[in-house]
Amino acid sequence: MARKPAPESALERFLRYVKIDTQSREGCEEVPSTDKQLVLANLLRRELVEMGARARLDRHGYVLATIPSTLPPGHPARGRVPRIGLVAHMDTSPSAPGAGVRPQVRTYRGGDIRLANGVVIRARENPELARNKGKTIVTSDGTTLLGADDKAGVAAIMTLAEELLRVRSLPHGEVRIAFTPDEEVGNGTKFLDLRAFGAEVAYTVDGEAAGELNQETFSADAATITVHGRSIHPGMAKGVMVNALRALADVIVRLPRDMAPETTDGREPFIHPHHAEGEEARATLELLLRDFETPGLARQRRILERVLGEVRSLHPKTRIELEVKESYRNMRDGIAREPRVAQALEEATRRAGLQPRWVPIRGGTDGSRLTAMGLPTPNVFGGGQNFHGPMEWLSVEGLEKSLATLRNLMTVWVELSTPPRARTAPRVRRRAPAPTR
Ligand SMILES: [Zn+2]
Repeated sequence: MARKPAPESALERFLRYVKIDTQSREGCEEVPSTDKQLVLANLLRRELVEMGARARLDRHGYVLATIPSTLPPGHPARGRVPRIGLVAHMDTSPSAPGAGVRPQVRTYRGGDIRLANGVVIRARENPELARNKGKTIVTSDGTTLLGADDKAGVAAIMTLAEELLRVRSLPHGEVRIAFTPDEEVGNGTKFLDLRAFGAEVAYTVDGEAAGELNQETFSADAATITVHGRSIHPGMAKGVMVNALRALADVIVRLPRDMAPETTDGREPFIHPHHAEGEEARATLELLLRDFETPGLARQRRILERVLGEVRSLHPKTRIELEVKESYRNMRDGIAREPRVAQALEEATRRAGLQPRWVPIRGGTDGSRLTAMGLPTPNVFGGGQNFHGPMEWLSVEGLEKSLATLRNLMTVWVELSTPPRARTAPRVRRRAPAPTR
């Protein structure tokens, strides 16, 4: 009799998915920004259907799938467990080569890891490596990124889906899956149809080291300063020319140096000039404003206004405009509205044998936008490190712990949704999430 092949492990899936180039492209309003992301999207849809999930690929390249609940009629949690969404992004960052990824699986023996091209993953700069001594890790060959961001998340979710649909003995509510394109270029949720997705709570699996959880991101605005000057042939410019570039330079030198990304970390805010262009007649400066506390953004705006006031008096013939647009908001407050979302994740992580650590993200995630749209979405680790470059690496144990945490989430949510009198399983400890400061 032919034996059924053994189910594919999360690592095996990961190694298959990273070999598919899914790099997204900056500055493209269409989603997906690159057609090659559809190669993985089509493959995932087909694999989900083969597992027995209901799955479809929509016209913007989002893969949406449903795994039905296994709670039998009469189960006390039936009809009470929220539909849990699991989200990962398929694209890889445009900031490093993403084609021809050759994953290297090795046992980490300690010390620095030397790859091709003189790329070195230094033990000193990677404290997580020490925790992986004697364990299996994956790197690229040094010529490309690895793509653990976020194919670790894709692999963990796919492995869980296969397991839930094959085993069917684990009681769980309905699971909704979304694989998104273009997260790395800021469009991961742009065309995500929340009604079609249908989740009531969600988790992005797009984080880093095992045990690290995120429910806080920056609150972010984008500022543009435009200086208008007056251009004339420099040979007859005396008393006439008004050089916008000089005024713009005076703006830049007045920006607070102790509030820059290169001088801050942890929970400290920053004002970051990241793009300037122009000529005598007109010059613009684009800045990122970032603070974990949303009111801090108004303070940053006042700092910019004060700087512009000084520069206007130095260059009275210029006209200087400031425009500030909202980018995204810290998801902490949105997630706190449904405390069970973070509580369940913390408990699921603990049951995977890890000490959960809530780490603030100095950036945004797809979860920031989903939370703002009303779907509370904290972020779960996938086991990868050093995203967006050739020094990226994956802890295979971290990936397996990510899968275990997702599996535990299913159980914890059933327990949390069971009315107290009907509970037979040990109660989930109801306690506030660990402090993030
Ligand atoms: Zn990512």
